[in-house]
Amino acid sequence: MSLIVQKYGGTSVGTVERIEKVSEKLIGWRERGHKIVVVVSAMSGETDRLLNLAKAISPRPDPRELDVLLATGEQVTIGLLCIALEKRGCPARSYTGGQARILTDSAFNKARIQDIQADAIRADLDAGRVVVVAGFQGVDESGNITTLGRGGSDTTGVALAAALKADECQIYTDVDGVYTTDPRIVPTARRLDRITFEEMLEMASLGSKVLQIRSVEFAGKHNVPLRVLSTFQEGPGTLITFEEVLEAESMEKVLISGIAFNRDEAKVTVLGVPDRPGIAFSILGPVSDANIEVDMIVQNVGRDSTADFTFTVHRNDYERTLEILREQTVRLGAREVSGDNKIAKLSLVGIGMRSHAGVASRMFQALAKEGINIRMITTSEIKISVVVDEKYLELGVRALHEVFELDQVS
Ligand code: ASP
Ligand code: MG
Repeated sequence: MSLIVQKYGGTSVGTVERIEKVSEKLIGWRERGHKIVVVVSAMSGETDRLLNLAKAISPRPDPRELDVLLATGEQVTIGLLCIALEKRGCPARSYTGGQARILTDSAFNKARIQDIQADAIRADLDAGRVVVVAGFQGVDESGNITTLGRGGSDTTGVALAAALKADECQIYTDVDGVYTTDPRIVPTARRLDRITFEEMLEMASLGSKVLQIRSVEFAGKHNVPLRVLSTFQEGPGTLITFEEVLEAESMEKVLISGIAFNRDEAKVTVLGVPDRPGIAFSILGPVSDANIEVDMIVQNVGRDSTADFTFTVHRNDYERTLEILREQTVRLGAREVSGDNKIAKLSLVGIGMRSHAGVASRMFQALAKEGINIRMITTSEIKISVVVDEKYLELGVRALHEVFELDQVS
């Protein structure tokens, strides 16, 4: 017998019929002898609907009250799911985040889980009940309702699995696993049987939206085996695990696991700044003061002892960043501030590149062959990212998928 935490996303519980289907699946698991804790999201579209109600009243709703409102979405789902389970004769009990003693800090709208006091849940499991917990929410020290940020139910699932020392945390969603890249762009993209936590973190932070990044971090840190699978079709899904586990099971190391991409990027260039200590700080200081996150950074030094400084930001922050730096042109001694918001980032991810030379040159060659100009490059141990013009994104992803033979099982 094992203890499994399952999380069902918004589409999986999007209608009353689907909630009834989920209840039948859960009963199947229980009848096979497993102890089951279920975490559910709000019914699809519900969180957005609630958010829009708040925005219709105020453009910047009070964060505490927004959490009171948003947390109701998940509360609806736990009630309905328990009603469906009980109707079928399956003992079940629902818990809001606060009732489940999911204790968080007080950062409304983006709270972090600090502790879970799971005694009541354990007692229910021992009594043979299916435990149904509202995702995305917790309670702070003073009893305020908090929420964990969009997509936060994944993190609830993982945190509960860690607290209960579950054998596996299964994330049920509308795709049947993690793919080598987005199948809408590359139809031959392949579902991965396994991927390491490190790679999954890169994929998630680079725009693959299967899992909330925080949940992957949490699972990696607390040793929770994580599996992504489909609610609507049978299959093994993708197991996210540790490198050692992968190596022990397969002799061959996979070179590249996937290609991630992100269209929400823009780049800003400050041209002709004096090449002297402190210049990076004087450019990026005001940007970070405005709470704008900077991603890739490149500085090139010209012959006339001036430098060009280029960096990327989220596309939503593009205008604001330009504005901030244009105000500073004189102070910076810059010639000009320019930018481009029609760019995209394309990344190869794979732990295998740590021990293999030549991945970067193969990547660049493949892009060159398609006539795609690379505007910026950054690398880490297990990732190479390039910025290209947005119009070449699909072409680039397809070319790389082919060159690295990601459609073939290695
Ligand atoms: N309902 C929340 C959202 O839409 C949390 C979640 O589904 O994970 O972001
Ligand atoms: Mg989600």
